[in-house]
Amino acid sequence: MRGVSLYVHVPFCASRCPYCDFATAPATSPMRARYLEALAREIEREGTALGRPRLRSVFFGGGTPSLLDPPEVARLGDAIRRGFAARPRPREVTVEANPATLDRARLDAWRGLGLTRLSLGAQSLSPRGLRALGRTHQPEDVPAAVEAARSLGLRVGIDLIFGWPGQSIDEWRDDVDAAVALGPDHLSCYPLELELEPEASVVNWPGGGWTAVERWREAAAARQPDDRGLAVRYAVAERRLARAGYRHYEISNWAKEGAVCLHNATYWRNGAWLGVGAGAHSHLERVRSHRPVALARYLADVERGAARIVDDRSDEAVDGAMLALRRDTGIDLARFAVRCGSDARERVARALRGVDGRGLVRWTGDRVTLTPRGRILASEVFVRLLP
Ligand code: SF4
Repeated sequence: MRGVSLYVHVPFCASRCPYCDFATAPATSPMRARYLEALAREIEREGTALGRPRLRSVFFGGGTPSLLDPPEVARLGDAIRRGFAARPRPREVTVEANPATLDRARLDAWRGLGLTRLSLGAQSLSPRGLRALGRTHQPEDVPAAVEAARSLGLRVGIDLIFGWPGQSIDEWRDDVDAAVALGPDHLSCYPLELELEPEASVVNWPGGGWTAVERWREAAAARQPDDRGLAVRYAVAERRLARAGYRHYEISNWAKEGAVCLHNATYWRNGAWLGVGAGAHSHLERVRSHRPVALARYLADVERGAARIVDDRSDEAVDGAMLALRRDTGIDLARFAVRCGSDARERVARALRGVDGRGLVRWTGDRVTLTPRGRILASEVFVRLLP
């Protein structure tokens, strides 16, 4: 293998945000040290099994990787050096950060791993928004974190959430403008989506806590804007970010010239990446696989050297088509046929023709892209692609 992207999952968080359904666990978990040791072993073992390839990009996501202490960060760096070629260095190394967890010692530790980019989970820049989302950081933590990253020459991405309970359109406009005013290189805007079934990471939290989370989500869902309200907010972001010079390069992502997230672009190109850690997904040699979300199960699997769980229900052609359509460049059906075969091309072309007339997709020769309306209603296009 000539090169691969690496995703490293750090599930620990200082507290649990009630809307979040990621693979998380408390920062105070008694399994923290054992988890990080298993993670380091997994990195080294998987990299060695792949022939110590070079890393194209590395993304530390979570959870809240930014809360790791410097010796914990150094241990992960050591495992990466053992499992992967040192040169050429990855073009991009990102750490997801909670704006309240950054300090100079931690940032220096991450820089020791070649950090180039910080992805800040701001979610809102208003006290009301942060309260509505149950976040524990304060609006003023965000400019301070941006400033700290800038002083080290790092690229900065800011994540925002729209459609939180009771959010007005003006409040969303103010959030977008406040984020733009901080001059990030990259912005991600996600609608608040509330999962009403218990997620697999519930078992990682002492006592589960699902009853309180479920109650919060039901109350929040009742006060969210409806689909039309979400569409209006999405259009507000599109207009304001275009005016501020950001390219809308993926359904939920905008970037300044030359600042697209290379790591996430690997996912959307359906490229090769290794994911390590609880709940992490991989796509290698056109096979999707993952690790368990529950920490105890993850530890048991990694400590006995078990292989990742193969996603045997995934369909490479369908996945590739959906991911390509998420990007502003869309899907080139001629190239898609070379990669996935002419039957798959016909299947995708037929599905996309099925939404012609609804203003969701645009055809330019063999290339199909989502229209602005199609980006809002992308799930209606994607559902057509399913077998
Ligand atoms: S939203 Fe982020 S900080 Fe909050 S629980 Fe989820 S991963 Fe942790």
